[in-house]
Amino acid sequence: MIQRIEPQSADVWTVGMPRRVLIVGGVAGGASCAARLRRLDESVEILMFDRGPHVSFANCGLPYYVGNVISDESRLLVASREMFHERFNIAVHTETEVTSIDRSAQTITVRDLATGHARTERYDVLVLSPGAAPIRPPLPGVDLPGVFAVRTIPDSRRIRSWITERSAKTAVVIGGGFIGLEMVENLIHRELAVTVLEKLPQVMPPLDPEMAVPLMEHLTSKGIQLHLGDGLARIEARDDRGLVVVAESGARLPADLVILAIGVRPENALAKDAGLAIGPRGGVVVDAQMRTSDPNIWAVGDVVEVHDVLTGQETVLPLAGPANRQGRVAAESIAGRVTQFRGVQATAVVGVLGMTVASTGASEKGLRRAGVTSFEKVYLHPGHHAGYYPGARQIHLKLVFSVPDGRILGAQAVGFEGVEKRIDVIATAIQFNGTVHDLAEAELCYAPQFGAAKDPVNLAGMLAENVLNGDMPLADWLELDRTDALLLDVREPDEFAHGHLAKAVNLPLSQLRSRYAELPKDRDIWVCCAVGQRAYFATRFLAQHGYRPRHLSGGYTTYEALQAAGLAL
Ligand code: FAD
Repeated sequence: MIQRIEPQSADVWTVGMPRRVLIVGGVAGGASCAARLRRLDESVEILMFDRGPHVSFANCGLPYYVGNVISDESRLLVASREMFHERFNIAVHTETEVTSIDRSAQTITVRDLATGHARTERYDVLVLSPGAAPIRPPLPGVDLPGVFAVRTIPDSRRIRSWITERSAKTAVVIGGGFIGLEMVENLIHRELAVTVLEKLPQVMPPLDPEMAVPLMEHLTSKGIQLHLGDGLARIEARDDRGLVVVAESGARLPADLVILAIGVRPENALAKDAGLAIGPRGGVVVDAQMRTSDPNIWAVGDVVEVHDVLTGQETVLPLAGPANRQGRVAAESIAGRVTQFRGVQATAVVGVLGMTVASTGASEKGLRRAGVTSFEKVYLHPGHHAGYYPGARQIHLKLVFSVPDGRILGAQAVGFEGVEKRIDVIATAIQFNGTVHDLAEAELCYAPQFGAAKDPVNLAGMLAENVLNGDMPLADWLELDRTDALLLDVREPDEFAHGHLAKAVNLPLSQLRSRYAELPKDRDIWVCCAVGQRAYFATRFLAQHGYRPRHLSGGYTTYEALQAAGLAL
């Protein structure tokens, strides 16, 4: 639940008091702050400055403009200068860069990029929403023609022209995160052969490695070359006007164009030069009302550091949802309303060539990094709707929860249908401090074409409940090579023959009731099946007959992913 706190009384804004609010940066955070502030106070003077040509555009749509999925550039324009003026009486100055802040005089210096003319503007309140800039590592060749980052409409336009004019056939995308993968999809739409160069051994760094495996298999199946575990060393120009991306390993990846998507960095220069507090991640430090260390300056969006409600740590999270909500909170705070930004839990989704990957909350590796150890996790691989209805597609789902209280800490899901719906439900449960019991109990939509009477979200909650109440003690996949437990595979012999854990013995669930006496009672038994369901049945049966079973969550499907990620032998 959001805890409401009172604003500091010295700074309470009286609606109707003539004041001048200047906003640096439009688009997501700045524009939403401006519009909300106008709705709260008709008397305030609002001016918004953006150095780009557009005050409000869909930067999330840019990759799709490159891919021609969105072919009409004007569709990316969310709101115009004129609209802000007519509808909200907000003065928008585009192609106008804010170059410095004088906090004692309460002025900013702005430069008209068309004329070069500089002037100062006075403020009562200043809002910084300059966003984050793509990281350009200081390596040879990153500024060569044909090397692009994607942040603005002109960036996308340049990439489109380059592809068309050069009849580009090959591309290297450096960085396998959200923007990199969206660019991969769209370059494939443009029929380029694409290679991804990624420093980590996986794509989608926010995911736990085993959860990225289905995505990597999907990308490979679509013909994308994944060059993983290797960083960028330099980019060279070829004689034929093409480029070569040279990796740290010495590998040479030819390309007609290169996309740099290795992350973004808060645009903190203005704030830093003005002496505002900057956090360890490079973001502007703000309080829960989005106010900086200067009581007359607020900051929102990609430029700020935010509180991660799961790990308790400060972080940066360059996503549009938080930026918009922060803009709204800042406006309310400026207008003297009682408000608070609750922090972030990193809910995100990306679609790549038909596959959807979504996550919310903490990953297992994120928790370990934060020093959290009192958690457990379950894996499941259900259909996205009832199996008897045609077209069910598998969802790979991982739920991480706190032990022993069952608080939900995070979830990741990969699949083709219904993925983001499950993650959105779990995200909402996290927001309300929900537990795995809440997920087991969640009353969700069901008709055969949409879900199941036990939805994957319910199943995840039930599995976690089974772990917490001792019905399904877990074995640790990562201990597989060290355990002296008996590895029992309860799949049918034909399934077992297709692949099984080393040293596993096969006793199918269908024969367990007649043959269980063959099993040892003086040894732990780790039970495995295809996805976890039959192993759960076997675990319950054996536990009630005096055996010591432990359940290998997610079954052989999870094992294969762990193995492919290099986590299990
Ligand atoms: P921005 O929206 O970047 O706006 C900052 C503005 O400030 C810019 O227009 C900039 O020109 C201007 N500016 C900066 N400095 C100055 C200055 N000194 N003077 C004047 N103007 C200045 N997020 C999602 O949640 N989902 C997605 O699918 C998604 N896809 C994305 C795809 C791409 C290609 C990109 C680039 C981003 C994507 N994002 C996505 C991230 C999302 O767009 C950002 O998190 C969000 O726009 C941040 O809002 P902001 O207001 O902080 O900054």
